Amino acid sequence: MDPELIADIRGAVAQLCANFDGGYWQRLDRDMAYPTEFVTALTEAGWLSVLIPEELGGGGLPLSAAAAVLEEIQRSGCNGGACHAQMYTMGTILRHGSAEQKQRYLPAIARGELRMQAFGVTEPTSGSNTGALRTRAVLDGDHYVVNGQKIWTSRAEHSDLMVLLVRTTPLTDGMKHTEGLSVLLVDMREAVGNGLTIRPIRTMMNHATTEVFFDDLEVPAENLIGDEGRGFRYILSGMNAERILIAAECVGDAKWFIDKAVAYAGQRSVFGRPIAEHQGVQFPIARAYANMRAAELMVSEALRRYESGGDCGAEANLAKMLAADASFEAANVCIQTHGGFGFAEEYDIERKFRETRLYQVAPISTNLILSYLGEHVLGMPRSY
Ligand SMILES: Cc1cc2nc3c(=O)[nH]c(=O)nc-3n(C[C@H](O)[C@H](O)[C@H](O)COP(=O)(O)OP(=O)(O)OC[C@H]3O[C@@H](n4cnc5c(N)ncnc54)[C@H](O)[C@@H]3O)c2cc1C
Repeated sequence: MDPELIADIRGAVAQLCANFDGGYWQRLDRDMAYPTEFVTALTEAGWLSVLIPEELGGGGLPLSAAAAVLEEIQRSGCNGGACHAQMYTMGTILRHGSAEQKQRYLPAIARGELRMQAFGVTEPTSGSNTGALRTRAVLDGDHYVVNGQKIWTSRAEHSDLMVLLVRTTPLTDGMKHTEGLSVLLVDMREAVGNGLTIRPIRTMMNHATTEVFFDDLEVPAENLIGDEGRGFRYILSGMNAERILIAAECVGDAKWFIDKAVAYAGQRSVFGRPIAEHQGVQFPIARAYANMRAAELMVSEALRRYESGGDCGAEANLAKMLAADASFEAANVCIQTHGGFGFAEEYDIERKFRETRLYQVAPISTNLILSYLGEHVLGMPRSY
């Protein structure tokens, strides 16, 4: 994508984010409240619909644009975790939805009338083993009847639509776990109280995550995305985009932490000189910077391959792991550089530290990425 356009996007997003300072995020964090004003501002400015085609009311831009938006949000000290799912679930509808579904949902999402922020994949018993999920959808005339449970379904209380992965064909002997799964688009405005129950889960950071229960929930058959039984492939194809976008967020976090650490080290004076003059302070920041830059390059490479239509599974996974490691390293260094002040709420560092820690585990944990690389890239035996 044109670097000038990317720079313009970054500049405009940074300008918007400047209206949401540390005090705003601290207040929300204390109350575990959702950043509605922030998400509304991003939506109204069109930043959350950059991936929607122009003819359907969106920006018609490639994934690089979404990555630039999310990276800049994190780099500005804000938290894209409140709304990033709309970017990465979009591909499921764009690539596999029918023309009628796109027409029905995408212009309304672009106008900000509909929110598509909930993504229901993980279940309490299956965890990382997505193919073992148990939530069942049974076709009954013109609708599916859904029963089961999801966990960690983030933003469910702040979304109108949920992209939901369910089992439509029971597992039988010899069948692969990843077969027989399907994607449904659940309109939660109608579903809550009619078979769908949402229960918030309090976590170490403010992430609006929940568990959701399906109890004979009826979902119109026309809300099936693509073909029945091919849902795992659809979700998997979206997961590369998800990993790249989360990696871009982590790069943004790392930049924020490094900027903060450099600024503080230059201005904090003990023993009669700025602490930045000590190599023991300077080198860990320089190392974090080097690792961030390497991760940033891998994000660019993953975006390049994704946008050229090539297979980008390895690069998306590498980018996610390297960027999550870089952001957590930078977070740790930033706290250390600040000494005691790193733990004080008003500096925002401890909040961002908690927020960026998540990406060692979600949306895929580091071990699972290493297993992917070991098996699919290096050709070693599957370990599980
Ligand atoms: C705040 C938050 C928000 C989330 N939001 C969403 C969301 O919106 N939608 C959604 O669907 N999910 C969401 N998730 C779920 C997230 O994707 C999962 O937590 C993640 O995939 C790990 O699954 P698990 O928690 O079940 O861990 P488990 O699968 O139980 O794994 C536990 C530990 O064991 C390790 N492990 C497991 N299997 C292996 C193996 N074969 N080899 C080596 N190590 C292994 C893992 O690496 C991990 O460290 C969210 C999670 C959190 C915490």
